[in-house]
Amino acid sequence: MRRAINGFSRLLLNRSSRGNPIKNHFIYLVSLLVIIPVIALSSDHFKVKRVIDGDTFVLENDERIRLIGVDTPETVHPSKSVEYFGKEASAFTKKFLEGKSVRLEYGQQKKDKYGRILAYVFLDTLFVNAELIKQGYAHAYTKYPFKQEYMDLFRQLEKEARENKRGLWANDSTTTITPKDKYWLNTNSNTLHNSSCKWYGKTKEGYYSNEVLGNDCDICKGAHR
Ligand SMILES: [Zn+2]
Repeated sequence: MRRAINGFSRLLLNRSSRGNPIKNHFIYLVSLLVIIPVIALSSDHFKVKRVIDGDTFVLENDERIRLIGVDTPETVHPSKSVEYFGKEASAFTKKFLEGKSVRLEYGQQKKDKYGRILAYVFLDTLFVNAELIKQGYAHAYTKYPFKQEYMDLFRQLEKEARENKRGLWANDSTTTITPKDKYWLNTNSNTLHNSSCKWYGKTKEGYYSNEVLGNDCDICKGAHR
């Protein structure tokens, strides 16, 4: 590292005055500023060994990665079509990521309680977290707040996916009231209302859900966690 910086400064020095110590120091500093970001950027690339499911995979170094802000369907959901899309989501992530080199961007919290690294994942210019939501393979998972810019993007993409009935939104059952739908999630405030609440099904943006996906409401106490 130090040798690389020295080499780089020497390269610059060859084209300038050799005798001036202040100038030499300045050039050394400039070299540091150029080389360090290059090294930092390249170290964020990792090879994907194995995909576990739509939102989780393992790197070659055996670290587990969980995509931030994304929740692919699980088999606990009552609707079979959604369960099916859980498998589709895994296949999608597998197709895109397995054996590939990805770039990781981290959130404020480095790992979750399971020891998985929380990350935004990029394959070249493709933002994988966003793509899963956009194509209807995943919900925007905003229970735990993350980078505001990405939260807004994910919510917008989910809205579009629902409106265009992509993937897991293809079946209307998740957007119609059924006795099974315990909660209404206000996707604007990320507040969860239960069926006794005056806001249940009434906010401008939102959807019915059985999953505990938002913050508790002050009036109905949401999911009573
Ligand atoms: Zn409420």
